Amino acid sequence: MSQQQKQDDIHWLTGQFYNDSKESKYRSSIETRVRFESRLALILVSVVFAMFGITDYNLLGLTREYYLLLTMRIAVVSLCLLLAVVIGRSGSYSRKAWLHALPLWILATGIILIIPLRPESLLTQITAVVVAIMAFYLLIPNLLTVAALASLYLSVGFLAAAVIYAGISPTDALRLALLLVMANIVGYCALLRLESLQRKQFALLHEERDQNRDLLKEIKHRKSLEAQLRMVAERDALTGVDSRSHFMKRAEALLQRAQLEKTPFCLFMIDVDHFKRINDTWGHTRGDLILTKIAEVCEQSLRPTDVIGRFGGEEFVVGLPHTSPSDAQAVAERLKKNVEALPFTDELSELRLSVTIGIGIAHIEDVDLDSLITRADEMLYVGKREGRNRVVMFREEEDDTSVGEWRNGSDGYSR
Ligand code: GH3
Ligand code: MG
Ligand code: MG
Repeated sequence: MSQQQKQDDIHWLTGQFYNDSKESKYRSSIETRVRFESRLALILVSVVFAMFGITDYNLLGLTREYYLLLTMRIAVVSLCLLLAVVIGRSGSYSRKAWLHALPLWILATGIILIIPLRPESLLTQITAVVVAIMAFYLLIPNLLTVAALASLYLSVGFLAAAVIYAGISPTDALRLALLLVMANIVGYCALLRLESLQRKQFALLHEERDQNRDLLKEIKHRKSLEAQLRMVAERDALTGVDSRSHFMKRAEALLQRAQLEKTPFCLFMIDVDHFKRINDTWGHTRGDLILTKIAEVCEQSLRPTDVIGRFGGEEFVVGLPHTSPSDAQAVAERLKKNVEALPFTDELSELRLSVTIGIGIAHIEDVDLDSLITRADEMLYVGKREGRNRVVMFREEEDDTSVGEWRNGSDGYSR
C-alpha cells in the first residue's frame, strides 16, 4: 500500500481520516460551509423548539409547569442562538469541535426536561425525539462521534425520564429503547456514509491537485531544459555569438527575404590574423579570452538586425541585410579598427591584434548562402595574401581568373 493511500484511509467507525493532519486539512477546507450551515440549522431548530411553547400553553394553561417549561425553552433557544452567533464568528470546525457539540447537548437536555414537566405528552415527545436524533445526525453539521454521543445522551436520558416521570411499563420501555436504537442506527449509518464519501472526494481532489502540481513542475522543468538545449544548439559556448548552424539558418532566411524584397545583402568572413602565433605566445586560455573580446567588438560594431556567428576556430561570419556594398565596406573598416583598438593590459599589452575581412555581396538574384560564403572566403583569402589586416570586397568586374591568380600566389597563406 502506498504512503498516499495510507494517508487517505478512513476509519470504518468514525468516518474520519486516520491521518491527523489530513483530517485537520479536511475540516479546515469545509469550515466556511460548516459555519454557515451550523448557524442556519441552529436558528431553524430554535424556532421549532420555541414553537412547541404553544402546545405547552394549550396543554397546561398558565400553570407553574407551563412557566417552568417556558423558562426552559427560552433558556435553550437563547443559548442556541448565542452559540449560532459564536460559531458564526469564531467556530473553527477543525480546532473547536466542542463548540459545535454544545448546542446538541443543550437541545438534548431541553428535550429530556420536557418529560418531567409534561409527562402526559410522552407520545408526542417520542416522535419529537426521533426527529431530533435525525436532526442531530443529519441537520446540524457535526463530527460523527459528536453527533453519536449527543444522540446517545438524548436517547438514554429520554428513556430514563420516560420510565421515571411518565411511569411507562417495562414492555413499553423496551419498545421505546428499540425505537431509539433504530433511530440512532439509521442516523449513524447515514452520517457515516456521508462523512466517508465527503472525505474520499476530498482525498481524490487533493490527489488530482498534487498530480497537476507535479505535472506543472515537470512542464516547467522540461521547458527550462528545452531552453538550455536550444541555447546550446544556437549559441557558441565560448563567445556567445550564434553557432555556425544557427547562423546559417538565420542568414539563409535574411538572404531569401532580401532577394524577395530586392534589397542589398552583404556577408563578412572575418579571420583573426596570426592567431596560431597568439596562442603559441600567450597560451590557449588567453587565446580563448581574446576570441571572446573580438566577438564582443564585432557585436558592438554591428546593428541589431545583423547576424553574427562563429564559423569555426578564429573565424567569424556576419550577415548584413539592407546593406549596400559601400556601407558594408565602411562597417567592415570600422569593425577592423575597433578590433585593432581593443585595449589589453598586463602581459597582453604587447599584443597587436588584427583581423582580415572578406566581403561577399549578394548582387545576383539567385545567389545562395553557400556561394556567398565562398565569395567572402575567397576575398578573405585575397586579403591574407595581400598582407592581412585589411578589408577586401568581391566586385562584379573582378573575374574569377584574377581570384584564381591570388589563390595560386606564394606568400604562404594556406587553409
Ligand atoms: P592567419 O593569419 O593566416 O589566419 O594565421 P592563423 O595562425 O590565424 O591561422 P591558422 O588557421 O594557421 O591558425 C588558427 C589557429 O586558431 C589554430 C588554432 O589552434 C587556433 N584556434 C582555433 N580555435 C581556437 C579556440 O577555440 N581557442 C583558441 N585559443 N585557439 C583556437
Ligand atoms: Mg582561420
Ligand atoms: Mg587566422
